[in-house]
Amino acid sequence: MSSVWDEPLGAAEQERLRPYVTNVDRPVFGLQGLPEVVKGALFSRYSRSEKSLRRILLEEFLGGEGAGFTPTATSSADEAARRRAEAFYERVLIGYGDDSVAELGGAHLACESISNIAAKAIEASRIGIAPLEKSTRYVSFAQPIGGRYRYYRDADVMASRHAATYEATLDALFATYAHLIEPVSQWVRRQTPRDGATSERAYLSATRARALDLLRGLLPMATLTNVGLYGNGRAFEYLLTRAASSPFAEVRALGGAMHAELDHLIPSFIKRAATPRGAAHAAYLATTRAAGRIIARQIAPAPASADSVHLVQWDDDAEERVIAAILYPHAQASYAEVCAAVRELDAATRVAVLREYVGTRESRFHKPGRAFEATHYLFDIVADIGAYRDLQRHRMLTQQQQVYGVSHGYAVPDDLVEAGVADEYRSALDRAAATYEAIAADLPVVAQYAVPLAYRVRWSFGLNLREAYHLIELRSGRQGHPGYRRVAQAMYHQIAAVHPTLAHGMQFVDLAQYDLERLAAEQRIDARVRRQAD
Ligand SMILES: Cc1cc2nc3c(=O)[nH]c(=O)nc-3n(C[C@H](O)[C@H](O)[C@H](O)COP(=O)(O)OP(=O)(O)OC[C@H]3O[C@@H](n4cnc5c(N)ncnc54)[C@H](O)[C@@H]3O)c2cc1C
Repeated sequence: MSSVWDEPLGAAEQERLRPYVTNVDRPVFGLQGLPEVVKGALFSRYSRSEKSLRRILLEEFLGGEGAGFTPTATSSADEAARRRAEAFYERVLIGYGDDSVAELGGAHLACESISNIAAKAIEASRIGIAPLEKSTRYVSFAQPIGGRYRYYRDADVMASRHAATYEATLDALFATYAHLIEPVSQWVRRQTPRDGATSERAYLSATRARALDLLRGLLPMATLTNVGLYGNGRAFEYLLTRAASSPFAEVRALGGAMHAELDHLIPSFIKRAATPRGAAHAAYLATTRAAGRIIARQIAPAPASADSVHLVQWDDDAEERVIAAILYPHAQASYAEVCAAVRELDAATRVAVLREYVGTRESRFHKPGRAFEATHYLFDIVADIGAYRDLQRHRMLTQQQQVYGVSHGYAVPDDLVEAGVADEYRSALDRAAATYEAIAADLPVVAQYAVPLAYRVRWSFGLNLREAYHLIELRSGRQGHPGYRRVAQAMYHQIAAVHPTLAHGMQFVDLAQYDLERLAAEQRIDARVRRQAD
């Protein structure tokens, strides 16, 4: 894992932390002896803080007024009960292979100073894993530690003839990013002066967030971040198995480190990941992932030169499917008989059934029910890796991503052109492309670390209509990043074009454009603070 690990702790600090973490000196560690609500609150701070979780725990939870916990004591009686429970789980889980038993316990695990490649690999988990990650909008990644910018240095790259070029290129990306934050923030402030209704705090926050949003394209996939995970044992076991099958040495090492810490917290639940059975499963995943690679390489590459969202598959009979699914639970007939009845309905009745099912939605949280899962859409998307990085976090869908590279190019945000910094931005990105190409010729997998978030990537989203409502309404929202807002808006237009009656209920899609995405949210924070003070 990373050779740069931030914020070493003093001996006294380590002693204070020891009851609450599974180790005090490594970047991957579990949380223990803390109330659940504190563990959740700690992880939620990752999003907005440059600090390590241990530092946050020390400063914001263990110090100061009203803080301080009594670590959950482990008496000898507790210890005996724990050992009995472990023995029980071993019998049920290993003995009878009852996998769902391992969903009944969970753990909080912090993974710090991992690259964006590794973060994406663990966040690709779906059922049973809940991640929270450092935001590229609220947190600057400009601060070097010990004189070195915080990015991953893969051992194979560093042992190759590309080591010096890799470091010089990534240093230049970070230096450009760091250097441009202030001028771009100032430019944003000149473009959108503060009005009387906005506090200085909300204004500074929103304008800086906008500058960081504009500049994040410079950050390479090697950028180190912090991710907190809460997961159940079964999901962790699968995550460890997947990590062991990864083509990235960093992800495999991360899996090993996660396993070591989970061994302190939920050993029985994840034990199988390290057995021959786990190794065979990892080998199976690695082998089957490679299937089709040779034939796929015969398909001519088609570099894109612009962002695009294409709806490539949808059901012609989507309306019938959804209406049948709405009626089915109320009928006393087979699915085929319900479908036959739906085919006889006139257009007005169909629309009426759909409208009644969608009902009166007071907010985006009022989502139509499972009948909307009866039809599916497949989107083929090209957008910058930054937008992909955010959208990848959705779990109730099937997504497949192509490798990170530079062949689809990048776009310079108009605002950076207007702010007069486009040349600097381009020069750092172009240099990264040359470095990527040179490394990729020898080390194609790890060359991906050098690709900045501004470059485009192609991926597919397969999702049902119900998830489409959720994803599109959430991701088109005002406070979203403009990069993924455009993707969500295009998805909406294309579903509405093929299925207007089904898209009719998507009434919380925001199709507007905004100058300061964060401003309304910051103003709401101000209002909340004022209410609390009253
Ligand atoms: C403006 C904005 C800022 C963000 N900032 C950050 C950030 O700083 N850091 C960060 O890490 N993430 C951030 N995110 C990502 C966010 O935390 C979610 O991971 C992401 O939006 C996926 O949303 P979801 O879980 O609602 O959707 P999906 O994963 O698509 O799930 C769909 C729905 O299924 C249900 N569901 C799915 N999984 C579970 C589960 N495990 N338990 C219970 N219900 C579940 C929920 O109802 C959920 O809404 C941000 C998102 C937005 C829109």
